[in-house]
Amino acid sequence: MKLRVRSLGIALLVFVSAAIAAAPDWEALGKRWWSHVQYLADDKLEGRNVGTEGFEKAAAYVTEQFKNAGLQPAGVNGYAQPVEFDVAQIDESQSSIELVRDGKAEALKFGEEAFFAVGKDLAEKAEADAVFVGYGLTVPELKYDDLAGQDLKGKIAVYVSGGPGSMPTAIKAHYQSSEERRKALRNAGAIGVAVIPNPKAAEVPWSRIAASRLQARMELRDPASSGGPGWKITLQINPEHADKFFAGSGHHFQEVLDALNADKALPHFPLAVKIREKSAVKRSQVSSENLAGVLPGSDPALSKEYVVISAHLDHLGIGEPVNGDKIYNGAMDDASGVASLIEVARAMKDSGAKPKRSIVFLAVTGEEKGLLGSKYFAEHPTVAAKNIAADLNMDMYLPLFPLKYLEVQGLGESTLGEDIRAVCEAAGVQVQADKQPDHNRFIRSDQYSFIRKGVPSLAFKFGWLPGTPEEKKFNDWYKERYHGPADDVSQPVDAAAAARFNDILGKLALRVADAAERPHWKADSFFRRFAE
Ligand SMILES: [Zn+2]
Repeated sequence: MKLRVRSLGIALLVFVSAAIAAAPDWEALGKRWWSHVQYLADDKLEGRNVGTEGFEKAAAYVTEQFKNAGLQPAGVNGYAQPVEFDVAQIDESQSSIELVRDGKAEALKFGEEAFFAVGKDLAEKAEADAVFVGYGLTVPELKYDDLAGQDLKGKIAVYVSGGPGSMPTAIKAHYQSSEERRKALRNAGAIGVAVIPNPKAAEVPWSRIAASRLQARMELRDPASSGGPGWKITLQINPEHADKFFAGSGHHFQEVLDALNADKALPHFPLAVKIREKSAVKRSQVSSENLAGVLPGSDPALSKEYVVISAHLDHLGIGEPVNGDKIYNGAMDDASGVASLIEVARAMKDSGAKPKRSIVFLAVTGEEKGLLGSKYFAEHPTVAAKNIAADLNMDMYLPLFPLKYLEVQGLGESTLGEDIRAVCEAAGVQVQADKQPDHNRFIRSDQYSFIRKGVPSLAFKFGWLPGTPEEKKFNDWYKERYHGPADDVSQPVDAAAAARFNDILGKLALRVADAAERPHWKADSFFRRFAE
């Protein structure tokens, strides 16, 4: 009896100590993750803008970390894949936007009322009639067309961003992408666009949107990625001053807002003003790079396929000061994702993981300029394009509180949804679908560059339940820090929860890399079309 008790005691002791050894030290792992964020989001790196010394320092750091994690170079020059950009910056002192009515011109106040979104084809001078076209959407498969019956030839299309509440999220998101809008509006003959940000889906106040307008805009120099001719005029209009554009048309912006809030069809009508612009743009060129490292697969056949884990290394750089701070550090956006990339790679090395498929760790440039680095990679992948099996993208997944719920964008679209469900279930984390589909997050980060090439993808956010303090933290983060200098290393984050997220992401990547079958889009997924 005694003996038995003793041996049970020893067995228990062995069991307990094994459990202790197996339980990861989330606090310590979180600290290590945070140390990468601290480096990448330090003021010294000046916000990691594309083409700056700060970005190059960040790239050197990631290269070193990829090496330490035992990844093999998978770029063009070692880990690096060079990407070239054309840069355009508006000189507002030499520019103007005017509304012309009955031959009389009224100049608009830059920033307060409207501003230029500078593209490669912005005309030095232009003047055109304008038409309000609701959401400005054309969705053939739903027979929905805001442009039907509108005379847009040689005119400027004025629209409010977003789409009807009743429209399925994925379709709405896709047709709102600038490429799809441009195709439809070009076909209708428009020469320019003037966008009124949808007040219903506003993540940040107009003042913050307007503050970014003097930043240099960038486009890929690569002709294969340019997407055809751009706009002669591209404007953003402050919703609070939209009535200046509507004056004399017999309509008010309130009418649009009322319809929008009631989810009724928006009105369409020609404006009574012409829009006239003069623009002076400083143009230059910069070089940057994507960074790719690979953990080679172990299976002779499957190792030729690649699971990509991605995050973006660039942020907004130096901009308009807010409370005396002009450095847009991008700690959550997206130093956090790059730090996770490093930690996931390192954990695989430490555990001696031998995935069947190869795993590519990809830190891209130019996300903030319009998903440009990932677009370039998807256009010119450093591994065979048809062998990219999946993309798991991390872009400000926001570890602001403990990880009880994980929100997954693209959850219902592909078999990857079942993979993340299984991994989360084992980790005791509940999976949520996108709770704010109107924010279009599934097409707003680098996964979309892969989706457009047919690659099943997922993206992530820390989840929460409506009405909880977590919801408030999440939404307050957008209001107070998103794309502002306050997204820095002094903000409170839950580093241990980030470490748990890293663990889940690593397990997801391994599960997908080891699966007998490669992931595929669901038969009824809207995004499946790109894979055909
Ligand atoms: Zn961003």
